[in-house]
Amino acid sequence: MIDKKVMDEIRKTLGKQKVFSDKEYLLTYSYDATALESPPELVVFPENEKDIQRILKIAYQNKIPVTPRGAGVGYTGGSIPLKGGIVIVFTRMNRILAIDTENFLAEVEPGVVTQHLQEEVEKKGLFYPPDPASLKTSTIGGNVAENAGGLRCYKYGVTGHYVLALEAFLITGEKIKAGSPVIKDVAGYNLKSLLVGSEGTLAVVSKITLRLIPLPQYRVSFRVDFNSLQKGAEFINYAIRNNIDPSAIEFIDRSSISAVYQYLGLSLDDQLQATVIIELDGNRLDVEERKNKFLEIVKNYDTLHCQVAETSAEQEKLWDIRRNISPALTKLNPKKINEDIVVPTAEIPGTVEYINRLAKEYDLVIPLFGHFGDGNIHTNLMLNPEKPGEMERAEIVLDKIFSHVVSVKGSISGEHGIGITKKPFMKYQFTELELELFKRLKQAFDPENLLNPGKILNFE
Ligand SMILES: Cc1cc2nc3c(=O)[nH]c(=O)nc-3n(C[C@H](O)[C@H](O)[C@H](O)COP(=O)(O)OP(=O)(O)OC[C@H]3O[C@@H](n4cnc5c(N)ncnc54)[C@H](O)[C@@H]3O)c2cc1C
Repeated sequence: MIDKKVMDEIRKTLGKQKVFSDKEYLLTYSYDATALESPPELVVFPENEKDIQRILKIAYQNKIPVTPRGAGVGYTGGSIPLKGGIVIVFTRMNRILAIDTENFLAEVEPGVVTQHLQEEVEKKGLFYPPDPASLKTSTIGGNVAENAGGLRCYKYGVTGHYVLALEAFLITGEKIKAGSPVIKDVAGYNLKSLLVGSEGTLAVVSKITLRLIPLPQYRVSFRVDFNSLQKGAEFINYAIRNNIDPSAIEFIDRSSISAVYQYLGLSLDDQLQATVIIELDGNRLDVEERKNKFLEIVKNYDTLHCQVAETSAEQEKLWDIRRNISPALTKLNPKKINEDIVVPTAEIPGTVEYINRLAKEYDLVIPLFGHFGDGNIHTNLMLNPEKPGEMERAEIVLDKIFSHVVSVKGSISGEHGIGITKKPFMKYQFTELELELFKRLKQAFDPENLLNPGKILNFE
């Protein structure tokens, strides 16, 4: 419990308009995009670095847990204040401090919404590629803390590939800088890379310098339908091998696409078992050349149908199918367990087949879709907790899926992080010694375990 005197001190130091303990605030900041919730005792909205430092100093002196929070659209409970205490919400620190067209970089505060940054840099002919599907709401701070990925990872990589430098505060309120505004920097231990993806457990990020690249001038998208799941999954590797250099490759299985069609009130071809959406980008001549090559590849492969989208309206319509998967799936069953496993790309067809087999054997609905170009398979267990034995069967299946993923050298999380929900599965991927090293790292940054406690591992 935060002492009333301490609450008053925080209010006095920051100003009343930045500190809230009203019920509606505690409720609003008690959950994220998971179904979990745990209320804080105090919600604070820093507006600058000094505010962050003041909050942390008081919290540290009084041993109060602190949980950083961006937009709260994380999928693993990362911004849920599991041990109560203070939630630091970054939505008021949402300024783009600089877009430097000479050095190809942007400096931003952590609360900048990802899409807003993309739009602003594009106005200057530059490109910030990381594009999590939550980009309209999620913040750069949250993206950095989760090392978020997205549709374009195959070609452009994940958030971490664009982080040049960070400024951050330790739990003590001391400030550190990690990285430099240059592409190459090998001086010392790579603290920047350690902080990226650390899920707010090591330091509170206050400023981010991001790398920008020239904006591709032209894009074309394709939707290719298949009458077999395997053919669809194998097509991805085949297309990549044929050197078409895609900027996005998305796979959608029948179960996911039929949910979207139902959701949008459309009817679906009976034969369709899988759909692949591919985007090419670059300069016009180059894209035209690769487009023709891709159409040749499609002609020589066993496909049902191929649709080409060239205008932005056509492309928007085509990608809408992909964007509507998440809301459409929620109509299938009341509970969704959303796993973001990732496997080496050659293992995709085998993994897809394995999960389908498990779904049949254990009588579960498990739609699959994802960024298959980078091996990321979104595996959604759509469950009805009212059905006898369904939750127990889901647990067995999850166990088998994670064991399989690790056995083929994949990872239990490609983009959502570990947070609360994936903690039980860390033991599949890491040895005792490796987990012990994680603990020692956490202790080096946060010996009292006050910063986002209860996430990634139980560090106490
Ligand atoms: C519909 C939907 C689609 C999604 N699609 C994708 C996707 O395609 N790819 C993907 O990677 N993820 C995806 N996600 C997950 C989520 O959007 C990302 O994890 C995103 O990065 C979260 O950003 P946020 O601002 O909401 O962070 P939050 O959820 O608020 O926080 C996430 C983590 O970041 C920490 N954090 C936040 N700000 C700071 C800071 N300033 N300093 C230190 N730590 C901080 C928090 O403590 C927490 O651990 C999706 C989620 C939804 C709901």
